[in-house]
Amino acid sequence: MKHSTLKIGSALFLSTLLSAGAAQAADYPDHTINMVVPFSAGGPTDNVARSLAEAMRPTLGQTVVVENKAGAGGTIGTSQVARAKPDGYNFLLMHIGFSTAPSLYKDPGYNPNTSFQPIGLVVDVPMTIIARADFPPNNIKELVEYLKANKDKVSLANAGIGAASHLCGTMFTNAIGVDLLTIPYKGTGPAMNDLLGKQVDVMCDQTTNTTQHIKAGTVKAYAVTSKQRVPTLPDLPTMQESGFKDFEVGIWHGMWVPKGTPKPVVDKLVSALQAGLANPDFQKRMAGLGATVLTAEANPESLTKKVDQQVPQWAALFKKAGLQPQ
Ligand code: ASP
Repeated sequence: MKHSTLKIGSALFLSTLLSAGAAQAADYPDHTINMVVPFSAGGPTDNVARSLAEAMRPTLGQTVVVENKAGAGGTIGTSQVARAKPDGYNFLLMHIGFSTAPSLYKDPGYNPNTSFQPIGLVVDVPMTIIARADFPPNNIKELVEYLKANKDKVSLANAGIGAASHLCGTMFTNAIGVDLLTIPYKGTGPAMNDLLGKQVDVMCDQTTNTTQHIKAGTVKAYAVTSKQRVPTLPDLPTMQESGFKDFEVGIWHGMWVPKGTPKPVVDKLVSALQAGLANPDFQKRMAGLGATVLTAEANPESLTKKVDQQVPQWAALFKKAGLQPQ
């Protein structure tokens, strides 16, 4: 008797909990939402995030606040979202590093395949190899020669192991066979400030951060990592044109919520993302920064497919390059 009362009691408790969850999902969102960017403010991911937060607002009917939770190549902010309450009020905007960090860290604090519910792909952004404005080399050929001759004197900025700048910088230095002194920052926003201030020499960074400085001539640019030249920087050669045969890297960005987020909440975020990407102001801003808006892939299936393909691909490449997880 006692046993069955307990059973009825827990069934009642469970159904109350479930209907409370369903009611919350139906009301979603009824207050401000946090978009976690795992890098510093003023950097490339932050630039995309702030435009996107604005563009998603009309569909959500709530303000989306960007929270910069920087450090450890993006893994600190990413794992914070993995541990957040799965109620749709905390979501992550991260890039390719989401799938590279798991093979570069022994414990990145999340599992790319099981910790999250994907929302969709967002943008794809090329990277540029740049240097402080008064750095002696004037083109990529001179840059390679200079780096080989001065490898003990040159510093390379990046946003920590697992960041896109780390990935691209490592691909470049590996390709030319030099090891440079690396200066890690919490994002390429602050790294760019030091490059502009001539405290560091070289960096590989996304066009969403570098375009304005390249155009203004406040940094020197050598090449872009996309297959084709970027329309907004037509004079900048690609790495492949510059003799780096297989050098192509695009920084895809995606959006995720913690695993267990209710389906109605996920659906709402997917429509807000799709509407945000279709927003003409967002599209214009991204085009101006050299980014491609991934409208057709702004859905959970496409992002799942991307991560499933990218995680093993990078793991194999790093293993081949002898990069050990830290
Ligand atoms: N995207 C990063 C940032 O926003 C930097 C990086 O990935 O290298 O700072």
